[in-house]
Amino acid sequence: MNQFFKEIWWVLRFLFYLLTTKPNKSATPDMEESVNDGHDINEMEDPDTDDLNDMEDPDTDPDTDDLDDMEEPVDENNEYNKMRNVVICLDNGHGEETPGKGSPWSIYKVPPEIPFKEYLYCREIVSRLAQVLHKEGYPIFIVTPELEDITLAERGRRINEIVADAKAKGMRTISISIHNNAAGDGHEWKKAYGWSVWTTRGKTTSDKLAQCLYDAAKDVLIPLGQKTRQDTTDGDADYESNFAMCRIPNCPAVLTENMFQDCIDEVKFLNTEEGKNAIVEIHRRGINKFIEMMGW
Ligand SMILES: [Zn+2]
Repeated sequence: MNQFFKEIWWVLRFLFYLLTTKPNKSATPDMEESVNDGHDINEMEDPDTDDLNDMEDPDTDPDTDDLDDMEEPVDENNEYNKMRNVVICLDNGHGEETPGKGSPWSIYKVPPEIPFKEYLYCREIVSRLAQVLHKEGYPIFIVTPELEDITLAERGRRINEIVADAKAKGMRTISISIHNNAAGDGHEWKKAYGWSVWTTRGKTTSDKLAQCLYDAAKDVLIPLGQKTRQDTTDGDADYESNFAMCRIPNCPAVLTENMFQDCIDEVKFLNTEEGKNAIVEIHRRGINKFIEMMGW
């Protein structure tokens, strides 16, 4: 865990590289109540669903004081020193106290003994991905650096604050919420498998981002003997729902379900270095493909 926190700190040092000069920062700390995401998933085909009822709109800014005095180290040998004009918001979803959200072993000690906690895994992926994307020149905003659960409304508000700041600087923003899927409630290992990506209903720019991520997932996972899953009913690969993390951001926003935490074979894969690298690479490749396609 120490290494994990070191990584998070390392990433924090680069947060808001272009975004820490916000002039009208509120000094008022957040006072919103903590609301856990729901995790009532009982059917094989259901994704792990976030609570969509959490729609109150907190009106105070997060405390970003600690970030103000962080500086950007310059790597003279880095060919990617030139900063890109697209801010990447990475949301690592649930908190450590969110009920469920793990392998059946981690939740109810159902063998085989394969430990896996979604909040930890997604934070590790986001940390690794942030470092990779930062090296490619992207400003990164980690939406939920905390370990505890942050309300969807607050996460959405943070993203939209970045979107507005970026826009004022002539920059674009995209947002990706990173999760692991589940077919059950953790009481037993299930059979469902496959990587998937979600958008809101209807056609938006988010669908293009989703398609780029899906194509990248196929390219990365299939050679490794892993699978993707898609919803072809509406003519593209993404699943459509009304997840808050797809709906609230005022920018292209998708949610990725990075395979199933209650599928034995997939959890084994996710826990390997190869698996972690694959999940990071899917996002790196998909994001770059989308930005190139959009001409940003
Ligand atoms: Zn989740």
